Amino acid sequence: MWKIITHDQTKNLIVKSFSNDTFFHAYIISGNRHIGKMTLALDIAASLNCLSNSELCGSCKQCVRVFNNNHSDIKIIGDDKEGLDYNNKTISIEVIRKIQSESNLKPFEGKYRVYIINGAENLSIEASNALLKLLEEPPQQVVFILLTIDNELILPTVLSRCKQIVLRPIQNNLVEEYLLNNYDISADQASGLSRASKGLLGWAIRAYYDSNIIIERDQILDKLQKLIFADDIDRFEYAKELSNRFVKNKNDVYSDLELWVELWRDILYIKLNVPELIVNTSRKKSLYKVSQLMSNYSIVNLLRKIEETESNLKININPRLIFESLMLDIPILQSDHI
Ligand SMILES: [Zn+2]
Repeated sequence: MWKIITHDQTKNLIVKSFSNDTFFHAYIISGNRHIGKMTLALDIAASLNCLSNSELCGSCKQCVRVFNNNHSDIKIIGDDKEGLDYNNKTISIEVIRKIQSESNLKPFEGKYRVYIINGAENLSIEASNALLKLLEEPPQQVVFILLTIDNELILPTVLSRCKQIVLRPIQNNLVEEYLLNNYDISADQASGLSRASKGLLGWAIRAYYDSNIIIERDQILDKLQKLIFADDIDRFEYAKELSNRFVKNKNDVYSDLELWVELWRDILYIKLNVPELIVNTSRKKSLYKVSQLMSNYSIVNLLRKIEETESNLKININPRLIFESLMLDIPILQSDHI
């Protein structure tokens, strides 16, 4: 049984290719954080080694070892072994050299050695080129699975050697249904988590186990909401804080920006009178006030600017400049008008 929960079309194609033994030597799975890239990679690794004659069984000795993270032929490279948090650490050429030397050995206990490279966008140029050589002449009984948040951050030559699988967020109601069926959760909590997950099941599961995720999320949203009515001094102070944090942990800042987009989308949905699409229903009243002070055009424009900010950060423009320019794009609103 494949554990990945994704769109039927994507899942059927993958399952079919593995049940027909028409798989590739290298895959690249892309998609947002917490979308299920590692889950799918482990499904593939288990499917390649599963002892069942039909579909991935999930219960044979091979499957169990893969899913318990103790199969000696399955190696996870890059980030923490659960693959939940990206820490932006560069993957060096030494790591790939090590793979190079051991990948010529026969699998130790299974049918295939599988190398899962988590955060493949963190491969150094030298490491990418060394990996490319491996992908050009793949060793027997070895499958590479690269995981990345964005294919555009991968060397095009490496990308062209991999079968690409793109994971997209699933519908919120599928997240809700999964939570209700698999966890001891109230209908209200499941509905709240699924809306906040934006179709990322992995995020919803993490937030179910760790209530701090929701608390921190609320704190960031509070701060962003305050910023709407802040003056230039406070906004520039925040730009400085963001750029300092960006140097230490890029993904932390990307998460802030995602929440920002979420908040402004909610404001737009209120403006367009489609309240059923609002994620932060508990903030509806205060967001309504903001929506009254802005035109549709200025909200859409700001959303575009936030997206532009994300793209500019990815191409390494000075982060401080980028954030300051974003601050200048937020219209100044007077809170005493509300
Ligand atoms: Zn099995």
